[in-house]
Amino acid sequence: MRRKLVAGNWKMNMTIAEACAAVEAFIDAVELRHMVDVVICPPATALHSIFQLVRKSHVALGAQDAFWMEKGAFTGQVSVTQIAEAGASFCIVGHSETRGKFGKLEVTPETLSFFAETDHTINLKIRTLIYHDIAPILCVGETLAEREAGKTDEIVRAQLVGALEGIEPAELMKLSVAYEPVWAIGTGKTCDSDEANRVCGMIRDQLNSLLGEEIADSARVLYGGSVKASNSKELFHQPNIDGGLVGGASLDPHEFSEIVRHA
Ligand code: PEP
Repeated sequence: MRRKLVAGNWKMNMTIAEACAAVEAFIDAVELRHMVDVVICPPATALHSIFQLVRKSHVALGAQDAFWMEKGAFTGQVSVTQIAEAGASFCIVGHSETRGKFGKLEVTPETLSFFAETDHTINLKIRTLIYHDIAPILCVGETLAEREAGKTDEIVRAQLVGALEGIEPAELMKLSVAYEPVWAIGTGKTCDSDEANRVCGMIRDQLNSLLGEEIADSARVLYGGSVKASNSKELFHQPNIDGGLVGGASLDPHEFSEIVRHA
């Protein structure tokens, strides 16, 4: 049976001091929940300091992103070797805030949050994470326009195919996939739990046909998008949902502990 996983994505929030204080505030409560895997993904600047606080606990450390090249002239990037050295054992890949619109960066106020990540760059990152034995949390999900056009399943399937193309199933034993409908991220609009359950089931079916039964059984399929203490219980009780990727609500230690408790 798969263990539930709850990951907190802190995005570009918190100084190192604030991040350490938040971890200290929830670690005891979360430590009681041994049946759940808990991952904290702070900003890269806080990885090393947070690792010192969680290393003796069952809370794991995750990075929010990492570049696939080993080293070199890649200003502003952080390599997988560097996040591993800082203590990360998980890494988010392909978050909608780093994905591009078909690989093109249109710089308007509305699209400033896109960094033009493509399925190809996501695939390179996953390969590099596997090489360094870091567990990828692959984010997939449709925009509102895609959902309204009835294209949710088609988009999510294509994202899975592109991200996992050419990777041997045996290398993906630590893979998690987070279904994150873009229209639900940071908006307060949560996907209906039946629909989230349906899409997560479709993701598992797709993993089965792409990679076989063993990976489809072992991979955790998470839901992300405005998860809060008030809706996490219902979401995590759905048979196809193995936990959550939590943004805003993971910044509040009490709220995050409650969400972990519901898992
Ligand atoms: C996220 O950033 O992955 C996320 C799901 O954010 P939020 O929970 O704030 O919607």
